[in-house]
Order: sequence, then C-alpha cells, then structure tokens
Amino acid sequence: MAVELQSKSAFETAQKRFDSAADVVGLADDTRRVLREPKRELTVHFPVRHDDGSVHVYTGYRVQHNISRGPAKGGLRYSRGLTLDTVKALAMLMTWKCAVVGIPYGGAKGGVAVDPNALSTAELEHLTRRYATEIAVLIGPEKDIPAPDLGTTPQVMAWIMDTISMHSGHSVTASVTGKPVDVGGSEGRLEASGRGITYLTLEALKYLHVEDETPTVAVQGFGHVGASTVRLLHEAGLRIVAVGDSRGAVYNPKGLDLQALHEHRRFRGTVAGFKKAEDVSRAELLELPVTVLVPAAVEQQIHEHNASRIQARLITEAANAAVTPEADALLNEKGIFVLPDILANSGGVVVSYFEWVQDLQAFFWEEEEINTKLHHVITRAFYEVLHTSVNKRVDLRTAAYALAVQRVANASVVRGIYP
Ligand code: GLU
Repeated sequence: MAVELQSKSAFETAQKRFDSAADVVGLADDTRRVLREPKRELTVHFPVRHDDGSVHVYTGYRVQHNISRGPAKGGLRYSRGLTLDTVKALAMLMTWKCAVVGIPYGGAKGGVAVDPNALSTAELEHLTRRYATEIAVLIGPEKDIPAPDLGTTPQVMAWIMDTISMHSGHSVTASVTGKPVDVGGSEGRLEASGRGITYLTLEALKYLHVEDETPTVAVQGFGHVGASTVRLLHEAGLRIVAVGDSRGAVYNPKGLDLQALHEHRRFRGTVAGFKKAEDVSRAELLELPVTVLVPAAVEQQIHEHNASRIQARLITEAANAAVTPEADALLNEKGIFVLPDILANSGGVVVSYFEWVQDLQAFFWEEEEINTKLHHVITRAFYEVLHTSVNKRVDLRTAAYALAVQRVANASVVRGIYP
C-alpha cells in the first residue's frame, strides 16, 4: 500500500515539465494556458457502512485533464492520503502518455483516499460500488474509461463494470479496462506494464551498445509492475541482482535466485532477510553499480539528494514521477539515459486500449497478437522520442513531452474554441 508523501506540489511539478516541453515546441500562449489546467475535477465525499455497522465517510476524485484526442483514460488509485493535487498531476501525465504512444485518448486519473488493506472484502466492494456511482456522471466507454493503478485490482474493475452495467440495464464491458478476462478483460493486460518496460529496456540497451556480457538490473518495488518486470527481464536474459519492496531490499551481484526469493517473500511478506543475498536498504538499492535501474514503486524516489550517486547506465522509470525534475538535471549531466515514465510504463494503457477495442467489437484476440501489437506501438514510440531528442537536442523526457504536447496541441487547435 502506498502512502502519499509529497514534499512539493505534484501538480506544480507536472506543470513545470509541461512548460519546458511547451518552450521546446514553441507553443502559443493561448494553447499553453488551456493545456496547463485540467478540464474537469470532481471531488466526492460518500458514506460506506463497515461490517461492524459503523458509517465512514470517504473522499474520492476523478480528474479529466484533456479530451481533445479522444475519451479520457487513466487509472484509479486507492491510497491513504491521496490528494486532489496528486490526482491532477497524474491525470495530466496520462494525457501525455496516451499522446506519446499515439493511442486515441485524453488523460484522466481518479481514486479514493483509503488504505485498501485496512478494509474487509465486503467493505472494499461497498466502497468501490458507491464510488463508481458517485463518478458515474463522468465515466463511460465514450467518455472516460478507468483502469487499475496503485491499490486497485482486476476485481475492483469488475465491481465498477458491474455497477455501471446495473445502472444501464445491460453489460457495459467497455466502461473500464484491466478487468478479469471472464468479463471482457484482455489477454496480456495483467503483465502489460512489465512487458512494455521490458521491450523498452531491451531496445534502449541495444541503442546504447551496452557492452556488458549480461546487463545487471536492480528493481525497486515488487508489486504488480515490479514483479512482472523482474520475471520478464530475467526471461530476456538479463541478470537481476537486486530487488526491493516496501520493507527492505536484497542484493547479490552474481544474480538472485528468483524462485527461492518468491518463496521467501510468500513466507515472510518481504524480500528482506533472504539468505542467498545481502540485505541493503531501499535507498542503497538505487545506488548500486548496475546496468539498469528500474524504480517501480512510488513517486519521487530519485531526487536531488541521491541522483548524483546513481551508477546505472540506464533508468527505466516504471513508476509515475519516480524521478524529480531536479534529479533529471543531475542524471543528464552524468550521461545517464532515462526512459521517462510516460513512455516507460505506457504498456499498461496501450493494452487497456486493446481491451477497450476488443470490448467495443466483442471480438477477442489471442495473447500473442496482443504482445506483437504492444511491441509495435511501444517500439515505434521509442524511436519517435529518440529522433525528437536528437533533432531538438533535448533529453528523452523533454522529447517525450514535446512530442506528446505537440500532438495534443494540434488536436486542440484544429478543433478550435467553442462556441
Ligand atoms: N494506471 C495505469 C497508468 O498509470 C494504466 C492506466 C490505463 O490503463 O488506463 O498508466
């Protein structure tokens, strides 16, 4: 469970990144003012009756940053201390993420300030169904399509789909993505973020001509995205030397025995204390001498105080906003190649797009086809970002933002201002 610990306004950071990209593409002031703000922000306060009969009031959000290129799209986060500021920042990030990979969506984000682990299954279901009802004014297959994010699962998506369907009187499978396959979910969606991270990491290593015989990897975060990334990078032949979770981290320069590590974690609830490796702190994991570092936990992990000690050749930013703007500058100085979040973790939303298309057509594809299409979309985006970076002489993050901002601005300008 993630606890939101924000030292700075996440939304101001998102705006700062947008401003730099707007400067690079020479965005007109009018368009800049429009894209700096979210289109819609909904805050809801709603009651949930707990198993013991007591009533608790929860706060939830749904923010749509932009819908110029298509329906709003983005995850739902259940996290203690979740704020509107964080949701606004993540909604803006989704707009750029969808644009940079060229899928026809705008950006949104939502969630509830709650620790999902503190609720029983019945309480979680009641909370989800009530929250879905509260935001039903905004969501739907043509308007805004939620998906899983931190603290939410395919089961939560199934409850939302069912709630929207009950209100409509028929099954509306395309109302959310990341659902179980039994109710219109897509093959390959569960591992899509990890698969995208893997494809991009391999492509970047190829581009960087990394000479190491077997590139080594440290992954911070062993949740849904972290665990599939570890497995897929290992299968691709990379050596996983360090893994961390919310309670600790372990390191073995010769490579971790992943099967034994999984067993240890199942038993202990953490990777810490794994006998066939050395215990390191979560902070130390980030500074290990590895080829690839994958921060796959929460925001603001690589910042001005530790960036200069990072030794990795490549950072694949799996968690949204894991690297702060101040750290970006230091990493650039050191020549560290950073695959930015909006590109690095876009595999999830790309396969969400495939899921939505399949639901709308009621025609389902096999996993091989999904993975081939994901590979195509994500590799194309990687080279488009790379070319922009070389042509405009900017780092990959600025290039990814510039490409995305230009695409959204084009849609905004060609549509014009109503009335
Ligand atoms: N929550 C994921 C993200 O941040 C997936 C969003 C989606 O599939 O709509 O990209």
